[in-house]
Amino acid sequence: MNPADAIRPAHVEVSLGAIAQNYDAIRAHVGTAQVMPVVKANAYGHGIVEVARHLMNHGAPCLGVALLEEAIVLRQAGISIPILVFGGVATRQIPQFIQHGLMMAASSVDKLRQIDEAAAAVKTKACVHLKIDTGMERIGVHWYSAEKLLEASLQFSNVEVAGIYSHFACSDDSDLSAAREQLSRFLEVLEFYPKHGLQTPLRHIANSGGVLQLPESHLDLVRPGIMLYGVYPSKDVLRPVQLTPALSWKSQVVFFKVVQPGSPISYGGTWSSDHQVRVVTVPVGYGDGYFRALSNRGSVLIRGQRHPIVGRVCMDQFMVNLEWGTAYNGDTVTLIGSDSSESITAQDVADAAGTIAYEVLTNINTRVPRVYV
Ligand SMILES: *Cc1c(COP(=O)(O)O)cnc(C)c1O
Repeated sequence: MNPADAIRPAHVEVSLGAIAQNYDAIRAHVGTAQVMPVVKANAYGHGIVEVARHLMNHGAPCLGVALLEEAIVLRQAGISIPILVFGGVATRQIPQFIQHGLMMAASSVDKLRQIDEAAAAVKTKACVHLKIDTGMERIGVHWYSAEKLLEASLQFSNVEVAGIYSHFACSDDSDLSAAREQLSRFLEVLEFYPKHGLQTPLRHIANSGGVLQLPESHLDLVRPGIMLYGVYPSKDVLRPVQLTPALSWKSQVVFFKVVQPGSPISYGGTWSSDHQVRVVTVPVGYGDGYFRALSNRGSVLIRGQRHPIVGRVCMDQFMVNLEWGTAYNGDTVTLIGSDSSESITAQDVADAAGTIAYEVLTNINTRVPRVYV
């Protein structure tokens, strides 16, 4: 779809080429480790099916998602490569995991037994990755109780343990001591395999922070999410990999006016000027996922210049103060992206809204059309 043909004068532009380029940069950085691109949450707002298909055609060996539903959407779109679902597995979901050939996270003997029985019932083998909690306290068997799970996992003949993994809580910090502690707990758990003369399943722990900051955590496979989309996981991280942002968010000026001194703008009348100003209206709001917290804090680019949002962001529109700048109806408004020499990153929007870039991207909802370039 051509952006100019979009029904609304607002769209998100996604560069699949930039995502492939970031994937290649990650591969080059991690050497022999496999790369499992993470496409959960609508591929961090970029469009799960389009991104997954592009990465599969680009050679990605597998994909990671958070939910069973996300994996089923991918299967229904013809994505045939292995998919690991990170989240916990409810007993009633097990048959669907097996039916769609999806890899499950398993973190208890009880769940393994249920998976084994469900697989036996349809005369197939189910594929799992054992989930070890090394300090995130989210899901997984605690590292200090993991040995029993590893032992038990050997006894289920209808379950194939393809991988074993953990997840970092603080790999995007400048202080990496907690992450190093998690990694050493994980490596300790893994000693079980050589100790018993067993083949070790695929070992993985690194998210984007781990990929960037802890080369020793790359192991057999890495699971980058945010960096695939060209965004660093935090402002503090080391940047050994050059990334290209894949998403920009554009709209257009739909209204121009001159506002008199003392006339408050938008709900609650939170902003007014003591002199005459030129103000334009942009047809995007928190109903699209553009945070209301950007009221009187965020800014946008028009004609290569940065201008502040004034007054509260409404559900479907917000206002921008041009002071004495010029703009015409139909001019491009850049919410995220670049215009001439100026640019606004997802991190900039996150800073203005008091959140993280992850939330800025995943919050852009389906009301905003995606255009792939
Ligand atoms: C979301 C997620 C990732 C990717 O995290 P990023 O910080 O975006 O790289 C990796 N692994 C698991 C288990 C996740 O839930």
